[in-house]
Amino acid sequence: SAVADLLLSVDGVTVDYSGFKALDAFSMTLNRGETRVVIGPNGAGKSTLCDTIIGRVRPSDGRVIFRGEDISRLPEPAIVGRGICRKFQAPGVLPMLSVRENLALAARRDRRWWKSVGIGIPAGDRQVIEETLELVGLAERADIPGGQLAHGEKQWLEIGMVMATGAELLLLDEPTAGMGPAETSRTAELILGLGAARSVLVIDHDMSFVEQLGAPVTVMHQGRFLKQGSIAEVRADPDVAAVYLGH
Ligand code: ADP
Ligand code: MG
Repeated sequence: SAVADLLLSVDGVTVDYSGFKALDAFSMTLNRGETRVVIGPNGAGKSTLCDTIIGRVRPSDGRVIFRGEDISRLPEPAIVGRGICRKFQAPGVLPMLSVRENLALAARRDRRWWKSVGIGIPAGDRQVIEETLELVGLAERADIPGGQLAHGEKQWLEIGMVMATGAELLLLDEPTAGMGPAETSRTAELILGLGAARSVLVIDHDMSFVEQLGAPVTVMHQGRFLKQGSIAEVRADPDVAAVYLGH
């Protein structure tokens, strides 16, 4: 049923920065296994939406429901523990560690990397790590320090790190930032290859990327819900056009 498929519900969420509403009674839902793209001009509130879902920012009104539970008052580590993981707009790959070690840390969900590195990779994580290396196309680069990767490869490693946590809901904030067309296409393929076991909320404003993903689109503007539909529907919408032309 529709209710059983519902994974995430953002329900009338307002985020208030001293009177300025970065989110203004914003609502959206995401089903199990669904990939959805959130677009909107700069400052629309897209990153604030991710911050709120992951518990970094507290809504002054509304709720975030994940798997039927109100998570909007939980601290970030508890939300991560429930199965949500976020990739930030700026890459957070640890430059001195190899690609494989970066994935190993993510698989342990352990930020105390200096402890983890000495211990080595637990057997239980090895399969996850090798599968992830294949999925993000970095198997050949597994032993290279993260800092030596090309920009696009770093982004793919980060998507891999988010996957390796085993989270059911992945939040990807501008995964194609700074990429050229070839890298952008590869990123779309990679996200489409994640399969139905994951739900993905992708934030981006690169329309060719959004088209390649072919996923349903939610449009935000000034912290509010503006429109929702297929990419073609959203493109044809006069309100959406007005928002982007006015930008
Ligand atoms: P987007 O990711 O869509 O570009 P953001 O969510 O980053 O938009 O920001 C939405 C609005 O909230 C912007 O106008 C931004 O300046 C403002 N904003 C974001 N974070 C803060 C903050 N910590 N304090 C005050 N205003 C903020
Ligand atoms: Mg942003």
